Amino acid sequence: MKLDALAIGAHPDDIELAVSGTFIKLAERGYRVGVVDMVRGELGSRGTPAIRAREAKASAEIMGLSVRENLKLKDGSIFDTPEARLRVVRVLRKYRPNLVFTHYWDDRHPDHIYTSRIVAQACYLSGLAKIDTNQQRFRPARIFYFMIPHTLQPSFFVDITRQFDKKIQAVKAFQSQLFDPKSLEPQTYLSVPEFLPALEGLNRYYGTLIQTKYAEAFYCKEALAVEDPVRFFTEKERAL
Ligand SMILES: [Zn+2]
Repeated sequence: MKLDALAIGAHPDDIELAVSGTFIKLAERGYRVGVVDMVRGELGSRGTPAIRAREAKASAEIMGLSVRENLKLKDGSIFDTPEARLRVVRVLRKYRPNLVFTHYWDDRHPDHIYTSRIVAQACYLSGLAKIDTNQQRFRPARIFYFMIPHTLQPSFFVDITRQFDKKIQAVKAFQSQLFDPKSLEPQTYLSVPEFLPALEGLNRYYGTLIQTKYAEAFYCKEALAVEDPVRFFTEKERAL
C-alpha cells in the first residue's frame, strides 16, 4: 500500500502530540497516512506495552490512519545500528511515502535523538539499489521534523483549527499516560493536570503566528520552493 505521508515516532503517543492534527487533516482530504512507532513503551513509567498497543490502535482509528506499525526496538535503547536502519528502510520501501515526518534531532530524550538520526539515514539508504531487502528501492521526497526547539524558526505551519478537537481525542486515547487522580503510578510530565493545557497553549501559539486558532509547526532542512505562489498563498481563501 502506497502512503502519501508517514510519521515515524519513538514512542506510541509522540505522533499524537506532534503531528496528529496535520495527519487528521490529510486523512480528511483523502490522503493515505500512516504511523510507525519505534518501540512499544515497555520502559514507560505508566501503563504497559499491551495497554499502549490498545491505546495506539484506538488513536489510529480517531486519526483515520491507513496503517500503524510498531518496529519493536528496545525502549530507552534506540541506537543508530545497521539493523535499526534496515527496519526503517523496510517500512519505507513497503509504504513508499512521499513525505516522512519524524523527530527533530536536538531533543532531551535519547530515543527521540536516535529515531531522528535513524530515519534520516534510512530515507537515504532506502534509495540505494544495493541495500538489499528484496524490495524496490525508494526515497521519500521530503523529511519534515517535529518537536522542534523553541529557538528554531519553523519552516512551515499547518492550520489544525478544525482538527484540534480530534487531535485531543487522539491524545486522550493514551489514557494510561495522562492525568488520572485515581492512578497510583509514578508521575510523568504527561500525567500532570497541566499537560493538556500546555499542549493546547503550544498549538495556540503556533496558530497565532499564522493568524489562526491552532497550528502545528515543522522544520525542513532543505530550502522550500513554491511552484505557483498565487495558488499556494490563496489556497485557504479558495477552500472556504
Ligand atoms: Zn517519546
